[in-house]
Amino acid sequence: MEVFSRCGMRCDLCLIYRPNVETNDRRAEICRVWTKIFPGFSQDPSTVICDGCQCDESNAVLFDRNCKARSCVISKNIPHCGQCDEYPCSLFPAEPTQEELHQKIDVEHQWTWDEEALMAAYRCKCHMDEYRKQNGL
Ligand code: SF4
Ligand code: SF4
Repeated sequence: MEVFSRCGMRCDLCLIYRPNVETNDRRAEICRVWTKIFPGFSQDPSTVICDGCQCDESNAVLFDRNCKARSCVISKNIPHCGQCDEYPCSLFPAEPTQEELHQKIDVEHQWTWDEEALMAAYRCKCHMDEYRKQNGL
């Protein structure tokens, strides 16, 4: 079942989503990819875990508790950005275009095609565009 984050990432595909960590812990892989994309990201994989930003329990562990898009979605009382009249606004998270991804892989050789597949969960714009198309928004 699809589980969207507030900005439209796919928690159900995310390698740091708690249910996925509990069945198959691949956090070392995702941390290695994130370190390539975000220089300076060097957290101990064993500490990187998330209950999904739809979770509103007070003790939920969220990867980014200060996310502005999340606060905005909550204030609008909608499930995610895909249902927002202002979508996609300036707060909506940017993501690399397909062209930029190809450049990182083929030209800059920053990461591999296998590793690129690990990023599918985080393509919020693709997911939300698809959601809106399917729902006639
Ligand atoms: S990091 Fe983002 S995509 Fe992953 S589980 Fe948390 S909210 Fe969902
Ligand atoms: S205004 Fe932007 S961040 Fe807020 S819900 Fe709409 S699309 Fe998402």
